[in-house]
Amino acid sequence: MGTLGTYYTRPMSPPWSKPLDVDRLSEAEADVDFAVPLAELPRLRAQLANVAGEVHGRVHFRRTAGVAVAELTFSGTARLVCQRCLGPLDVGVEAAAEVGLISTEADMNRVPEEFEPVLAPAGRISVGELVEEELLLTLPIVPLHADAAGGTCVAVDAPPLETHERVEDQTQRPFEQLAELLKRK
Ligand SMILES: [Zn+2]
Repeated sequence: MGTLGTYYTRPMSPPWSKPLDVDRLSEAEADVDFAVPLAELPRLRAQLANVAGEVHGRVHFRRTAGVAVAELTFSGTARLVCQRCLGPLDVGVEAAAEVGLISTEADMNRVPEEFEPVLAPAGRISVGELVEEELLLTLPIVPLHADAAGGTCVAVDAPPLETHERVEDQTQRPFEQLAELLKRK
């Protein structure tokens, strides 16, 4: 009864969250395409407090020097919160990494130097965990908008919309008049 209840109440797990059999996929040189919503990566959320957006890409598995290797490429946008003005801050993400997958930390020295070692306990890891590992290394820990002079955010310093519109009106009026003149011809 208990297991039946668990089965029906458990939310459907998306493909990127399923643990993959690293050995089998690397033997088969398999490709896995994915799209991962960043808000659902728990370690990333713990580090950044607030993260949204999505990345999509592909992981290609292979075997090098007896080690399972994941070639990870993905891109997308991470929406973070600026730690100065607390406004939304979009960070473009473009990642390409070659990861050596190991089952235990004792295998660390088996990973060739050119690969970044990542732990896949019992030979299993999900695409979400691979992506998360990479994002933890690449995304800023303290996200900030670009600096305007005086240490305020550029986005906040932008002129108020009203002023901006008035300036546009003035510059456009001569052209509108010209258009009218041309119509009369
Ligand atoms: Zn800001």
